Amino acid sequence: MGREEYQELVRSLTARLRRRGAGAGAQQELVSCSVLAANAGHNRDWSWPCDSEVGGFNPYGWNATDQARFTAVWCDAADDLVDELIEAYGAMWPWVCPSQLLTRLPDVAGAIRGLTEHRMIGQGHTYRDKPDSVYEHAAMYGAFHAARSRRVWPDSPRQVCPLCRAPFTGGQLNPWMIRQFGPARWCKQCCTGARDGNGALHTPAAARQAVVALAAALGTVPPQNFAQSPVAFDLPDRQRDAIVTAMAACPPAKTIRALHGTASWLDVLRTTEIVGDAWRPARGTYCSATDGHPCRSLAERTIDDWLTRHGISHQIEPLWPKHPRFNPHGRRRADWQFTDGTYLEYAGLNSDDYVAKIQAKQDLARATGIRLVVITPPDLANLTAVLGEWIPQSR
Ligand SMILES: [Zn+2]
Repeated sequence: MGREEYQELVRSLTARLRRRGAGAGAQQELVSCSVLAANAGHNRDWSWPCDSEVGGFNPYGWNATDQARFTAVWCDAADDLVDELIEAYGAMWPWVCPSQLLTRLPDVAGAIRGLTEHRMIGQGHTYRDKPDSVYEHAAMYGAFHAARSRRVWPDSPRQVCPLCRAPFTGGQLNPWMIRQFGPARWCKQCCTGARDGNGALHTPAAARQAVVALAAALGTVPPQNFAQSPVAFDLPDRQRDAIVTAMAACPPAKTIRALHGTASWLDVLRTTEIVGDAWRPARGTYCSATDGHPCRSLAERTIDDWLTRHGISHQIEPLWPKHPRFNPHGRRRADWQFTDGTYLEYAGLNSDDYVAKIQAKQDLARATGIRLVVITPPDLANLTAVLGEWIPQSR
């Protein structure tokens, strides 16, 4: 079923339900029908046409009461954030909304999560017992309807994949592709290929060559979890294309380790001569920023280099003050500290408990009275939006 047929079906169902003066039950029926219809074909479209009654993704029973309660904790600042996300991500903006609310507007995210913990919203969700899943869904669906009531945005346009020349639309990409690779650029097959890697390389020499090629594309030592790492959004497009191509040509880290008969990624790297024998990573350090600061990931290097480029002076790894509950041994460190005392942390989103992890950092910051900014992969597309106030000339 194509996009137009689907929209027509939703329109007719909506009109029919309106004529009957339909209640919540009938609305739910509409939601289920339209989602089934949209997902029936091979050419599944996950995007969120702004004129849609339901959005383009499984609403997991999200209903009018959920929306009313959600809207009660929404605010103007959240509208502004959504406008910014629409600029960067087009119709795919809701996929990055949960993490962005969490780090940019923690109070709003906290209120939404509070509603989920008290089972006041999202109880039609398959995983209603998991507040983080319900939060994530609410932050997408509730925000979608809140934004739809006040503005429109362009539908996901047809584009051509620069790697394989296949035509596609951003709406065909899965949510994780948007989170890992940023605004739609590569087709679904190429995104999947980059994550899954090359299963056809079966000699250590060929695998080593692929790792060396990946290191060259990245401009740094590939971390062991390279297949799940976000491709830094602010690199030139040609380099980003080269990284995704090299990821697809590289076997999974597990295969590479097995081919070399070692459990250690560092051992593999030593055999490639990407790193010398004397090289020892400290605390998982894999590369250095241009100012010499050690970084644990390419994302950290992207941020550190961005700070340097914009003349923002920064210290690395400041200790958090001791706190009886949140930092009892006084050993926890943040990633960076600015001269005004603000702490900066980078949080990848590739663990299931990222909401809890980020909230723990925020709790510690609140308890110690330190201002904290948390950066997540979607922020790498536009660090100025998050860190602009620290650029010297704008103060
Ligand atoms: Zn492609």
